[in-house]
Amino acid sequence: MRTPIIAGNWKMFKTVEEAVAFIDEVKGKAEVEGVESVICAPYTNLPALVEAVKGTSLKVGAQNLHWEDNGAFTGEISGVMLKSLGVHYVIIGHSERRAYFADTDETVNKKVHASFKHGLLPIVCVGESLEEREAGKTKDVCRVQTEAALQGLSAEQAAQTVVAYEPIWAIGTGKTSTADDANEVIGYIRERISVQFGSDVAGKVRIQYGGSVKPNNIREFMQQPDIDGALVGGASLEPASYIQLVEGA
Ligand code: PEP
Repeated sequence: MRTPIIAGNWKMFKTVEEAVAFIDEVKGKAEVEGVESVICAPYTNLPALVEAVKGTSLKVGAQNLHWEDNGAFTGEISGVMLKSLGVHYVIIGHSERRAYFADTDETVNKKVHASFKHGLLPIVCVGESLEEREAGKTKDVCRVQTEAALQGLSAEQAAQTVVAYEPIWAIGTGKTSTADDANEVIGYIRERISVQFGSDVAGKVRIQYGGSVKPNNIREFMQQPDIDGALVGGASLEPASYIQLVEGA
C-alpha cells in the first residue's frame, strides 16, 4: 500500500554534464512501475536535471534548503527557489549536515515546515552514531529526532513525509545494519509516529533505510515489512548500479 521510494543522494558529486549523461543512461531503466525513483543532486545540477527528466517518471530532489524564503543568508537556497525550478523532494537533516553544517533538531523542523510551505516533499534523515548505538540509545535517538522533525505538521503533511533511518556508522563505510535490525528500528519509528499523529498517518509514512545500500543487498532490506525503500549515497552515482537499486526495490 506504500509506494517504495529509492532516492539517490549524490552528495557533492557530478558536474552538470555528468548529471545529464547519467539521466540519459538511466532513462527508461531506473523507471519501474510501482517504485518512485528520485535523484537528489547538488544545487548546480538541478535546473539541467529537471529538464532532463521531463517525459520520464524520474523525480529530482535537493539535498538541503534554508527555512526562510529569502534574506541576508549568503550561500543559502530557499524552498521558494527550489520550487520555482520544479524540484519535488528535499533531503533534510542528513547526518553530514548535522555533523558539519550545524543542522539541529530545531532547524531540521523549520526546514521541514519550509519545504511543505513551498510544496516540496521532505526526506528527513534520522539515525544514531556508533557511540549511541553501543550505549543502547538507538531507539531513543531516533524517537527524539523524528518527533522533533515532524513537530507541528498537520496529519496530512506528516503522512507525506519520507523518513530515512540512516545509522551514521553505516553511511559510506560499507557496514550495514542487518535487515532485521533496520526493520526493528524503522518499526519503532513508525510506532512513535503513530503516538504523535495516529495510526492512519503512521501507516502511510514511508520510511527508508540508508547506509551502504548496494545492488547486492537492496533486496534483503526491501523484503522487510516496515522498510519502504532506501536512501543511497555511493551506489547511486553509477547508472548501472542505480538501475539495479530501483529494480531491486
Ligand atoms: C547517504 O549518503 O545518505 C548514504 C546512505 O550513503 P551511502 O549509501 O554511501 O552509505
